[in-house]
Amino acid sequence: DTGQLIQRDETCWEIPKKGAMRVPALIYADASLIRDMDQKVYEQITNVATLPGIVDAAYAMPDAHWGYGFPIGGVAAFDPDQGGVISAGGVGFDISCGVRTLHTGLTIRDILEQKHRLADELSRAIPAGVGSRGKISLNHNEMIAMLNGGAQWAVDRGFGEAEDLERTEEQGCMKGADPSEVSAKARERQHDEMGTLGSGNHYLEVQRVTEIYDQTIAARFGLAIDDIVITIHCGSRGLGHQIGTEFLKDMAVSASQYKIALPDRELACAPINSPLGKRYLGAMRAGINCALANRQILTHLTRQAVASIFPGARLDLFYDVSHNTCKVERHKVNGQMKELFIHRKGATRAYGPGHPELPTAFKDVGQPVLIGGSMGTCSYVLCGAKDNERRAYSSSCHGAGRAMSRHQATKQWRGRELVDDLARQGILIRSPSLRGIAEEAPLAYKDVSAVVDAADKAGLSRKVARLEPVICIKG
Ligand code: 5GP
Ligand code: MN
Ligand code: MN
Repeated sequence: DTGQLIQRDETCWEIPKKGAMRVPALIYADASLIRDMDQKVYEQITNVATLPGIVDAAYAMPDAHWGYGFPIGGVAAFDPDQGGVISAGGVGFDISCGVRTLHTGLTIRDILEQKHRLADELSRAIPAGVGSRGKISLNHNEMIAMLNGGAQWAVDRGFGEAEDLERTEEQGCMKGADPSEVSAKARERQHDEMGTLGSGNHYLEVQRVTEIYDQTIAARFGLAIDDIVITIHCGSRGLGHQIGTEFLKDMAVSASQYKIALPDRELACAPINSPLGKRYLGAMRAGINCALANRQILTHLTRQAVASIFPGARLDLFYDVSHNTCKVERHKVNGQMKELFIHRKGATRAYGPGHPELPTAFKDVGQPVLIGGSMGTCSYVLCGAKDNERRAYSSSCHGAGRAMSRHQATKQWRGRELVDDLARQGILIRSPSLRGIAEEAPLAYKDVSAVVDAADKAGLSRKVARLEPVICIKG
């Protein structure tokens, strides 16, 4: 039922404020994405709009789909001075799950004859799948240092280079982490999981640049037709999941104490300025550092694997973005600069040109926005659009978004057939789980091209380049 929607323009749809909603809900999508949108998104985004201290609107990106409490592809800003809240479900279980892309300096011609070897070598070097274990296990002190230091800690320990940090959000280290709020169980779960990809939706993909939409920005991003890049998508593994699980429970229990009326228990949250809110913030930031360290270690493993086949190759980091976070940012509200707590769940930060927090290399063009599609279709690089602060606090979509549940997908596809079919198209898949492959069938996702076109048209982020998969190591 899209009858409740008011179309504001070609790519912006409003659910007007009514009932307990404090603000309207806004969905960025074209007419066809709206038609196919999961009904749950409307319900969930309406619920988010009822939360205390929410500013302007509850937003859904064009890749939005059903999630725990908040939709995936949801963005919401909260004002601490207006009773604003922080929500574990608004961040997501995989805290700071994100994407980083590496240049390789190689082109498709350089790798064509070594494709199978490269696929085998990467799949050997990158631990993937449920419960996969890394070679690095951290003792208590190292665990604490990692939770405080993030990718900076990893670089200090020899995983990668200092230049990598300039190309990572927060310079690779989220400040304000409080490892003492990360439970023993959460740390325990992470003991053998550093430098592992995880399962299912997480991947390491060798990709070819097949189309450039903006020559100037692509050149600044260091992308040209036929270039080979490598993209890593993963997050904070067991540690992040455990933090999310524990704080959701605490927030659900304490909601009535803080007099927060929850339209859905899954929206459990706490006032930003409450003890519980502060504790979650400290733990979540430690979770962000865990994800940043994890992607940094995987980068190191990737470099070793590629060097064993292409000895001279330099894998410089292009950029690293997170898409499950709550971050404190300064934004204009009613003409005044304010510190807001921006939840982005399955949504990417997308600072436009000139933003003071951007690295020098991108300051005048805007932030790279890295968007996955699927292992069989394509992925995109976009760039934060000018003046996008007033759309969704400088945010963009993070992927294609699921078009159906994992369960539905396994009923429709067989993993083996998908792998063979993709191999015939020249795409090599390596994965410990054929069932996982079926869950991740390319057609189980929305049309990523339609999603990025909508993000572009809506002025969230601008299309820069298209990437096509060559090798995909799937979790
Ligand atoms: P999520 O973080 O929500 O699990 O996934 C982000 C996005 O990654 C999904 O919406 C989907 O479009 C994309 N994605 C999932 N699997 C793959 C893959 O194997 N390769 C690529 N390129 N993208 C993928
Ligand atoms: Mn994840
Ligand atoms: Mn993710």
